[in-house]
Parts: sequence; structure tokens; C-alpha cells
Amino acid sequence: TSILVVRSITLLLLSCTAIRTTVGVISSIPSSLAELPLDGHLSFDELHHIAKDFGNRFQYLPSAILYPKSVSDIALTVEHIWQLGPYSDLTIAARGHGHSLQGQSQTHRGIVINMESLKSPLMKVHRGKSPFVDVSGGELWINILRESLKYGLAPKSWTDYLHLTVGGTLSNGGISGQAFRHGPQISNVHQLEVITGKGEVVKCSEKQNEDLFHGVLGGLGQFGIITQARISLEPAPDMVKWIRVLYSDFETFTRDQERLISEENTFDYIEGFVIINRTGLVNNWRSSFSPQDPIQASEFKSEGRTLFCLEMAKYYKLSDLDTAIKEVERLLSQLNYVSSTLFLSEVPYIEFLDRVHVSEIKLRSKGLWEVPHPWLNLLIPRSKIDIFAAEVFGNILTDTSNGPILIYPVNKSKWDNRTSVVIPEEDIFYLVAFLSSAIPTSTGTDGLKHILTQNTRILDFCERANLGVKQYLAHYTRQEDWKNHFGPHWESFVQRKSAYDPLAILAPGQQIFHKAA
Ligand code: FAD
Repeated sequence: TSILVVRSITLLLLSCTAIRTTVGVISSIPSSLAELPLDGHLSFDELHHIAKDFGNRFQYLPSAILYPKSVSDIALTVEHIWQLGPYSDLTIAARGHGHSLQGQSQTHRGIVINMESLKSPLMKVHRGKSPFVDVSGGELWINILRESLKYGLAPKSWTDYLHLTVGGTLSNGGISGQAFRHGPQISNVHQLEVITGKGEVVKCSEKQNEDLFHGVLGGLGQFGIITQARISLEPAPDMVKWIRVLYSDFETFTRDQERLISEENTFDYIEGFVIINRTGLVNNWRSSFSPQDPIQASEFKSEGRTLFCLEMAKYYKLSDLDTAIKEVERLLSQLNYVSSTLFLSEVPYIEFLDRVHVSEIKLRSKGLWEVPHPWLNLLIPRSKIDIFAAEVFGNILTDTSNGPILIYPVNKSKWDNRTSVVIPEEDIFYLVAFLSSAIPTSTGTDGLKHILTQNTRILDFCERANLGVKQYLAHYTRQEDWKNHFGPHWESFVQRKSAYDPLAILAPGQQIFHKAA
């Protein structure tokens, strides 16, 4: 050990002629880093644009950005920092599309790796009985969809928004309306290539280095940087029947949702959302949904009541239209929604999956995309969802919501308990997502302070009522809160950290482990 320590100190002293960044911060970036034989390049200026994320609340200025062109660029950089040992405070944050909410893909005075620059391997679709696609960890899901559709194929499990990277969503879970059937995105990966915190490039799968494989899935970037992923595909449909129906009674709504996700022959996508105190047309920024009968839709008045919207989709090939129509009729006939609130739309598959992007374009044009997003995502056991709803929708959020509130159940059996992701201990649990936008200058109910207070009230209630809720995309700053979050899985999480990133170099923005320097 002492030889290693002496070597580390010597390396650090020899190479640490500090580099002055354009903003005048003296960083502890060693000059030797700039001499690494990279295919891509390191940038020490124009760092501000990367010191932010979708959440728009936390900004940590790095000392350098790596724009990798090859896997070896990333491996060399990580290995170099690893070799500096514990006496360097440098950390590394892989940044996917930077759509984290609280600085998770940032690092204060460390190195950000811009994963989208990594274009290798070139995306390659493999057809056959069990088709799959090999992609770079920095690839956007929308590009994977476009490429696989050329072969009549598509991934099975999605997020609602596709302009996110593979590495970013696989580090969290990746949940959407297909998860009840296929599980989250982390249940649909065959193999990964990962660079550990020691700079080692490791292939892993169910059969090879399985502990690293499972650890990295849902592992919040703690055990390695995903440079490649092999993602399972299925035959893609042509079109989607996209349906919304309304409920005024929460229990009827969730009973129907749970029935649908428990059946074999059911819809292909099942979600839902809460509508608080709105009149008129059922719509929200997260979708480009436009019902075929807009007059009927606009005539429905909610009269300020809280309503629950069940959202479903049936996929079909153009040649199977008749069967799809019958199937939709059969499934709808079993549901107990408010009659006259059936809204139907038909769109191409890609348009359905990329629906949130349409809203992004609209919001961007009004300057409403790059505002603070104090989102709160909760996973709630089915047995507690009624208690949760009674308090939150009946008491805490009665006047307005500052963005969509999604609510839908998933089946736990589709989640692999060997991965790092933390979920409630029940066969069915709900994702409830409060996707708030705050108006930057407001001090009212649409301001950041008010929304954060509401989030705290919701979390405090969950705690007080002992609901067994877990946060998804959680953000804690104290290790004891993380310990609590992981519960019985904390020990194995710590063990994996000490095996794969013992110096805590990777993903410091999650604030789970801190590099000792
Ligand atoms: P980043 O924010 O860049 O990174 C996230 C974390 O992963 C960081 O800790 C980072 O260091 C790490 N990381 C990034 N790349 C890698 C890599 N290659 N290897 C290892 N670690 C890496 N999530 C859902 O599950 N379902 C949804 O429906 C959904 N909808 C969303 C809609 C919008 C509009 C937004 C903004 C987010 C949504 N999310 C959803 C959340 C999203 O999945 C996460 O925020 C995700 O982290 C974003 O991916 P990213 O590529 O931007 O990752």
C-alpha cells in the first residue's frame, strides 16, 4: 500500500501544474491529463454550458470536459485519475443528455464526460429470432428508435421522453407505460460494456461479470460508465390507437388500471394522470394528444373537480386494423369510466413514442422549457395508494398543479431484484410523478418556493403515514438518507462501490459517496 501511496503522491506532484480555466478558478487538473493520447479532446474552457441540467436549480462548474471519440478515451482518462490516487480530489461525471434534476450529472471542479460525443460502436441492429441492437452508452433513445424502425423493429420498454441517453436512463431504471408488461428499460438489456472507476473496460451480462452487470443497472452511475449496451428489440407496429377516458372516482380509476395491467391480452401501454381544477379540454403539455372528436372533448367540463385520466394505447400493424378495433372495443367495454369521456386518437408509432418532444418544442418557443423543474417521483405500494391519494389530491394539492401528475401501476415481477434500483415491497406499485415547472420570478403558487414546500408536505405525509414509499430519481445530500433509501440493499451497494470505484471517482453529483481528498 505504501508504495502505491508514494507513487500516487509523486505522480500528482509531478503533474499538478494547475491549469487556469477561463473563469479564473485554479483547478487541480494535472497537466499530464492534457497529454493523454486521445482520439477526441479535452476542453478547459467554455465550461458554463455544461454546469446545468434540466432541473435548472443546481450548477457545478467543472474544470474540464472530455469529448470522447473512442471508448479508450474514457478508459485512459478514468485510469489516469485513478492512478493519481486518493490525494487528488478530481472526480468524473458521465453526462448523458443532462436531463437530471439536481446536478446528478455534474461535478464541481472535476471532469465531465460528454457521452453524446461517443459514437462508437456504430449502432448495429441484429435481426433474427431474438433481435437486439448494439448502441453506444451516449446514444439518444430517439435515434435508436429511428434506426431500429428501418428494420421493422423497436425496443420494448421506453421512457415518456426519448431525448435521453441509454447510459442516463439505464443508470436510473427507465419507466413508462410499457413497464407493466416488459419491466423497466433495465429489464430489457442483454449486455453492457462498462468502464469502472479504475479505468478497466469490462464486458458484463447475466453470464459474465454478473455482479457488475446488475450493479450498474439502476446504479446511479456509481460503479462504472456505460460505454455500450445491447438492447432487446421486438417487431414494431405501424400505428397506435391512443385513448383517454376520465374518472371522477379514484378507486374506480385504480381498480381499472390494475385490472388492465394484470391481464394477458390487454393494451400495450397503460398510464394515467390527475387533472386538478381545470375546465374544458383535457390536455396537458406532456402530450400532443388531439382527439378525433375535438368538439366532444372540448364540451366536457370538469367544473373544477379533480379528475383521473386513464391513458391507454393499442399498437397495430396496418394489415391488422380490424382485429385492433375489436380488441380495443372489448377492452374498453370492461372499464367503468364516465361515459361520454372517451377520447380517441390514431397516430404513427414513432409519433406516439416521441409525443413529449412536440410539447418541448412548443415550450421552448415560449421560453418555458428552461425553467426550474422541482420534480418529485414516488413509487408507492398498491395497498397504500388510496391513503396517499386521499391526502395528496384531497388535501395538499386541491387548487392547482404546476404541471402534469402522472399515476400508473406496474408489476414488480417484471423488475429484477439483483439490480441496484430500489422499489417498494409489493407485487404492484404505482409511479406517481409530480412534473412541476416553476416560474423563475414568481413568489406565488407557481414559484419554486411554493412547489418545494408542497413537495416537502407530500414527503412528510408519506413518512408520517409510513407508506413504504421509495423515491425514483431520488436526491439526498446525506449518506444516512441514502442508507435509508436503500434499506437492506445498502450493504451490497457499498460493497459494489468498494469493488468497482473504491476511490469514489464516478458520478459525484449523486452525493452518495464522497471522494476523500
Ligand atoms: P444525465 O442526466 O446526463 O445523467 C443521469 C445520471 O446518470 C448521472 O448521475 C450521470 O452521471 C449518469 N450517467 C449518464 N450517462 C452515463 C453512462 N453512460 N454511464 C454511467 N452513468 C451515466 N425517466 C423515466 O424513467 N421515465 C420517464 O418517462 C421519464 N421522462 C422524462 C421526461 C423528461 C422531459 C425528462 C427531463 C426526464 C425524464 N425522465 C424519465 C428522467 C430521466 O430518465 C433521467 O433524468 C435520466 O437521467 C436522463 O438521462 P440523461 O441521458 O439526460 O442522463
